[in-house]
Amino acid sequence: MLKSNNIDFPDLTDKFVKGEKYNKDNKFIDILSKVAIDVSPVGSAKIAACIVIKNKIISFGINQKKTHPFQYKYSKNSMSIYLHAETDAIRNALKFISVDDMKKATLYVVRVKHNKDNHSKLMFGLSKPCKGCFSAISTFNLKRVVYSTDYGYEEL
Ligand SMILES: [Zn+2]
Repeated sequence: MLKSNNIDFPDLTDKFVKGEKYNKDNKFIDILSKVAIDVSPVGSAKIAACIVIKNKIISFGINQKKTHPFQYKYSKNSMSIYLHAETDAIRNALKFISVDDMKKATLYVVRVKHNKDNHSKLMFGLSKPCKGCFSAISTFNLKRVVYSTDYGYEEL
């Protein structure tokens, strides 16, 4: 995992003992954490997502600050879901794969946030998909969803 002066990410090496699936998950969570660091924060959250099929990244998605007021305003409108990292990744993936292929896809989501106790440090945060994103995940019938927590990651 990433180690530097201002990044304090969880050590995910213990996940490797759980088998091949977790080994792959580690890899994509690690990649996403690097992408999330460079995402412009929305509020205090930097969130990145990707769609993976057969160990290959099909697309990325990020939360975008510019769209945040719109998203807030229309949060009860189903269109607003496209502005989150998860749905951005799904939308981008559909440029390359069919709706049917989505059934084989795993969606990874990572949130990076500032440590409350030491604001100059970054750490993992909970990125469990919201209702709107969950609706998109259900609509496209994604195979798996893996999201970051404060201490590592979990599967939906
Ligand atoms: Zn969402």
